[in-house]
Amino acid sequence: NVNLTCLSSVPRRYASTLAERNRASNALIYLNKPQEKAQKEGQLSGLKIAIKDNIVTRDSPTTCSSAILRNFVSPFDATVVDKLHDSGAEIIGKANCDEFGMGSLNTYSIHGPVINPFAASQDASNQERRSAGGSSGGSAAAVAAGLCDAALGTDTGGSVRLPASYCGVIGLKPSYGLVSRWGVVSYADSLDCVGVLAKDVDTTSSVFNTITGYDTKDPTSALPGIRDAASTYCNSRLEQLESSLKEGRLDGLKIGIPQEFFPQELSESVIHRFRQSVKLLKERGASIVPVSLPATSYSLSAYYVLASAEASSNMARYDGIQYGERVASTDPEDLKKVASVYARTRSANFGPEVQRRILLGTYALTADAFDNYFLQAQRVRQLVKNDFNNVFSMPNVNESGRSVSTESVQKVDVLLHPSAIGAAPLLDEAKSADFALDSYVQDVLTVPASLAGLPALSVPCLSTDSKPDSRLEWPIGVSIVGQWGADRLVLAVGKALE
Ligand code: GLN
Repeated sequence: NVNLTCLSSVPRRYASTLAERNRASNALIYLNKPQEKAQKEGQLSGLKIAIKDNIVTRDSPTTCSSAILRNFVSPFDATVVDKLHDSGAEIIGKANCDEFGMGSLNTYSIHGPVINPFAASQDASNQERRSAGGSSGGSAAAVAAGLCDAALGTDTGGSVRLPASYCGVIGLKPSYGLVSRWGVVSYADSLDCVGVLAKDVDTTSSVFNTITGYDTKDPTSALPGIRDAASTYCNSRLEQLESSLKEGRLDGLKIGIPQEFFPQELSESVIHRFRQSVKLLKERGASIVPVSLPATSYSLSAYYVLASAEASSNMARYDGIQYGERVASTDPEDLKKVASVYARTRSANFGPEVQRRILLGTYALTADAFDNYFLQAQRVRQLVKNDFNNVFSMPNVNESGRSVSTESVQKVDVLLHPSAIGAAPLLDEAKSADFALDSYVQDVLTVPASLAGLPALSVPCLSTDSKPDSRLEWPIGVSIVGQWGADRLVLAVGKALE
C-alpha cells in the first residue's frame, strides 16, 4: 500500500501535522520530506506545491492512482516539475486523482476517494461528505484544505475546472500546447493539458508563468513563433484595457454568454449565482453580449469517443511486460503465452472505469465503427473550434489558414459560463452505480474548451446573498474562456471576479 509506505518514511513531527491534516480529505497520497531551506531562489520561493500523481517525479512514486503502477518510480522528473524546482518552489508531495485521469469525481482511485474539505473549513460540526470533483480532486482539495499554496493538475476534459468549482478554488486549464506534457502520463494526448489550482488568481498566474514555455521534448509543444503571435494580440488588448484594469474596472471588455451553456441539467442555484457574477461584471463596466455556439450539444459525445479512443491506445503499454505490475499464473506453461499474461495483468490491475474506456475506445477504432464514431467525432471537434473562432475578436493563430464565417456576429474578448451543472455531489451518491451516467454529464460545460484547446479559468462565484439560515452554500465556479493563447487576458478577467 503506497499510502502507508510513503507516510512512514516521513519524519514524525512533520507527519503528525501535514499527514494528520491530510487525513480528513485524503488529498495527498505521498508526502515528501520537508525541505529545510529552499534549494534555489526564484519567482516561487517559499511556495508549497502538490503535484497530481499522473505527473512523474523522481523522488516519489507515480501511481496514477492505479494498481498497475502501484510501485512505479520514474527515473526522471517531468519538465513542469523541473521548472518548479528551478523557480524555488517546494514540492510537498503527490495528489490523489482518478485512475489515469479518467473520472469526474475522484472516486476511481486505489488510494480511496477524496473528500471535499469545504465543509470542514466552514463548520467543524458539518459531517457532509461530498466529492471533491475529479480527476484532479486531490490537487483541488489540497489547496482548499490549506495543505499547500498551489497544486498542479491535468485537464483533459475538465479535470482541473470541475474540482476547482466543487472545492471553491481557482483552476486554470491553459491553452493546449503552452505547457509541456513531457513526463505527464498520457490519457488522451490531443486534449491533455497541465493545469494550475490555487487559492487566488495571482498565485495561479505566477505558477502558470513558471511552467509555460516551449519544450523540445514535447512534440505537441506550441512553437515559439506561434506563442509570440498569440502574445502580441493578447498583450495589445491588455494594453488597451490596462488603465481600467488597474482600477479594478472592465470598461471596454466584451464578454459573451453562450446560450447553449445552460442545459436542462443546470441547477437553480447555479443559475442564480451565475446571474450575480454577470451583474458584478456589468457593474465593473464590461458589456455582456449573448452569443451562440451551435455545435456545443454534440461536444460531450464527441469528447468521450475521442478521449476513449486515444486512451485505449495509450493504455496498451501497460501489459505487465513493457510497463505495469505483472499478474501471472503460477503454471509455467501459461506463462509462455504472452496474451494470457496481458489479460491477467490488465483484468486484475485496471479499475472499472479504465476498462470501460479501453473497450469503448477500441470499439470506436475498429474498421466497422471508425467512420461513424471516430471520424464523425473529429468532424464535430472542428465544428466546435469553428464556433469559438467565429465569436472571438482575437484570431486563432493556430488555425490562421481556415476561413471564419462571414456572418456578422458580435465579436467578444472572452466567454463566460457556469463551470459545472451543480455543486459537489454527495460522495455516497457519487459512488452508486446509478450515478455512473450522471458522472459523464458533469463535464458537459467543460469539454467544448478542451476540444478547441482553449484557455479556461474557473473562479468561485461570489455569493452576495445574505443567508437567512446557516445552511452551507457549497461552492460553484464560473468559467472564463478565451481564444487560443489569451491565457493572460482570461486571468485578468478572473481577477476582477475574485
Ligand atoms: N471527466 C472527464 C473524463 O473522465 C475529464 C477527465 C480529465 O479531464 N482528465 O474523461
